[in-house]
Formats: sequence, structure tokens, C-alpha cells
Amino acid sequence: MSASDHRAARDGFRWDEVDLLAYKETGAAPFRAVTRQILFADPVLSCELRYFEVAPGGHTTLERHAHAHGVTILTGRGRCLVGETIHEIGPHDLVTVPPWTWHQFRAAAAEKLGFLCMVNVERDRPALPTDQELADLRRDPAIAAFLDGRAA
Ligand code: MN
Repeated sequence: MSASDHRAARDGFRWDEVDLLAYKETGAAPFRAVTRQILFADPVLSCELRYFEVAPGGHTTLERHAHAHGVTILTGRGRCLVGETIHEIGPHDLVTVPPWTWHQFRAAAAEKLGFLCMVNVERDRPALPTDQELADLRRDPAIAAFLDGRAA
């Protein structure tokens, strides 16, 4: 048995032998207060499982791409935008992000949001909205409020 067959959980959603990483390169895309841990990335699997943690009031990048995501909320509360729909999310909820669908996860103002995200190993780079695409999304007042971190 190799050491990595079992990696024990530690307090605060940390695991043995799992590095705490920056969410993305700084300046690569707009985001706020997010960390990333890669839990499973074995080459024999064609997917990766990552744990992301968004600090209170933080958010992931608004993006879309050809690959899909399967997300399981582990801890905390917040909201997510998938396509043109905003969902309230909490522990153990499941969120599917289909290909080429705008998505963003936002932690509640006073609560962090931690979630598992399953993704293909071979995947395209996320695309950010153009000014026109952002304007189109913001035409819906609920989406504009979501993107501004305001209550709808
Ligand atoms: Mn994504």
C-alpha cells in the first residue's frame, strides 16, 4: 500500500499530502478569496476532483468552457449562477454545470462556501465574458444583483 492510498482529513477541510493552492494565477481572471486543493488527479482517472473554498463575500470567476463540472457543496452557504438561473446552495447540494454555460459561485456575506468540483483532466481553458456578453447577462436585474454581490 502506498502512502497516498489513504490521506487523512484534518480540521478545516484540509487533507494530508494535499497542498493548499491559489485558485488561479493572480490577474488571470476576476475572482475573490478562493483557495484550491486537488484531491484526486491520478492519471489512470480521466477526471480530477478538487476542493474549492470561497471565503465569506468571495466569488469564483464568471466563466464558461467546453468541459462540464459536477459540484457537491460540502460546507457553508451561498448562491451560484448556472446559465441564467441563480440557485441558493448549501451543504450536500449537487450542481451540474453543462458545457458552454456561464457559471459563478458566491459565498454568503458571513459564511464561507466549500465545494467539491469534478472536472475532466483534458479540458479547454475557461472563456471570460466579453463586454457585450456581460451586458447581455446584466440585462436581467436578478443576475446583475448577483454579479454585484447584492441580494436580488
Ligand atoms: Mn468553470
